[in-house]
Amino acid sequence: MKTLKIVCSECSKVNTIPTEVENESISCSQCQADLDNPFTVEVSDESCTTHINENDIAVLVDFYSTTCGPCMAMYESYEDAALGFGSTVRFLKVNADVHQKVAREYGVSALPTIIAFKKGQEVNRVSKQLSQVELTLWAQSLI
Ligand SMILES: [Zn+2]
Repeated sequence: MKTLKIVCSECSKVNTIPTEVENESISCSQCQADLDNPFTVEVSDESCTTHINENDIAVLVDFYSTTCGPCMAMYESYEDAALGFGSTVRFLKVNADVHQKVAREYGVSALPTIIAFKKGQEVNRVSKQLSQVELTLWAQSLI
């Protein structure tokens, strides 16, 4: 049976889901949260690494700061782009002022920086403000 690993947005538990039940609603075995929730997930140093390394689905990570104008200008675009994806692409957000360890680990030197990962491997990155359309097209290309 083919399975897919999805990290829970709420509790960071790694769930293994049989791909045959793709059309049914899928929930976390630990906290019952929806695994196909289409909302962005605010992550920390620890949970960010788990999401990047353990998810079989593609992951986008937005490294931002609340004091960075372009970061805040992109805030809603990023939230809105995420709504189209559910359990196909996970949209993460890292406050790089608070979680400096993970930002350093991935060599983030400018904000905003958005990095795409597939199964723990960086696919590509962009260090500028993107529109909702640009984010959506990028996420689609990762599926
Ligand atoms: Zn959970």
